[in-house]
Amino acid sequence: PTALQSLAAAFTVESNTHPVSDERRAQLIDKPAFGEVFSDHMAHMTWTKGEGWSDRRIEPYGPLNMDPAASVLHYAQECFEGLKAYHHDDGSIWMFRPDANAERFRNSAKRLYLPQLPVDDFLGSVGALVTKERAWVPTRREYTLYIRPFMFASEPFIGVRATNEAEYCVIASPSGPYFTGGVSPVSIWVEDQWFRTGPGGTGFAKCGGNYAASLVGEYRGIEHGCEQVCFVDAATKTYLEELGGMNMFAVHKDGHLETPSLTGNILPGITRNSIIRLAQDHGRDVVETMIGIESLLDDIRSGEVTEVFACGTAAIVTPIGRFKSERFDVSVNGGKTGDLTLALRNELLGIQLGEIADPHDWMWKV
Ligand code: PMP
Repeated sequence: PTALQSLAAAFTVESNTHPVSDERRAQLIDKPAFGEVFSDHMAHMTWTKGEGWSDRRIEPYGPLNMDPAASVLHYAQECFEGLKAYHHDDGSIWMFRPDANAERFRNSAKRLYLPQLPVDDFLGSVGALVTKERAWVPTRREYTLYIRPFMFASEPFIGVRATNEAEYCVIASPSGPYFTGGVSPVSIWVEDQWFRTGPGGTGFAKCGGNYAASLVGEYRGIEHGCEQVCFVDAATKTYLEELGGMNMFAVHKDGHLETPSLTGNILPGITRNSIIRLAQDHGRDVVETMIGIESLLDDIRSGEVTEVFACGTAAIVTPIGRFKSERFDVSVNGGKTGDLTLALRNELLGIQLGEIADPHDWMWKV
């Protein structure tokens, strides 16, 4: 057995007696409606302050039984993760760095005063669910099964304090390429009025509150005709931080890369970390630094910065073609996809799909 299968053995399996038909599932994974359709099963564990973690199980996907006073519904004590299962040409199924998601989930939980799920339980739950749902992993190139682990405060108690009871679940949704039109540069609204987080806040944690707080900014961007939003630091409104769901890199003309440093305000992306390592493998310098909006715009205008891209699990690597705000409208690289952006995207995707060698043992076989 693989490492994931060994850890999955701790989970009991109750099969869904009313699964989606083979024919319907084949349609759903061929043309996925991301985030709207879920597979037949979910992983589930329960935590109480007294007993710790128990009831490791795979069970039929279905509504949760939750008390209206469950504290997550009032004070948002919850966190989550996002990763993918990839189908390889030989029929095998793989995950990309799930151990890194497990660690980040622990860091998020700690910030939210939730119990920290042991890494082996994270890996076991994901491994058990994907093993059970092998048939749900799309086979078309660049199509994947998106895996969503999450934990929330389930104790019925509406005083403000840390929960004594939590539920942890993992659900799965078939997904296609993030941008259906292929790789083409996106326009970015630079949002300097509404912030998703601030110094000492929860920016580094993957918690629902950050995304709730990002929506007004996201919609301002859409109103201004942009596809994505880049948030700036709340304290000084001077530095670019990250997009709503992606980190960011700038490529300089001497070949080095810069990316916003992990100040605590931004999510430490696993794609971000992987891009840094791949670029370094190729002998490039990667500088983690504070990227000022004005200096980046000057560098784009002068040709010092030749490419800018965003990265994350969903879209892998996405070129940025334009930065816009109430004060400026600047295009990057003539609005075209840069060579390094495309090369890094192809390399990372190639590793994830098993088409090129995996230099860092990032892939875990299910
Ligand atoms: N920033 C934010 C706010 C995100 O939601 C995500 C997606 N998880 C990322 C960055 C990219 O992280 P990753 O590469 O781990 O998907």
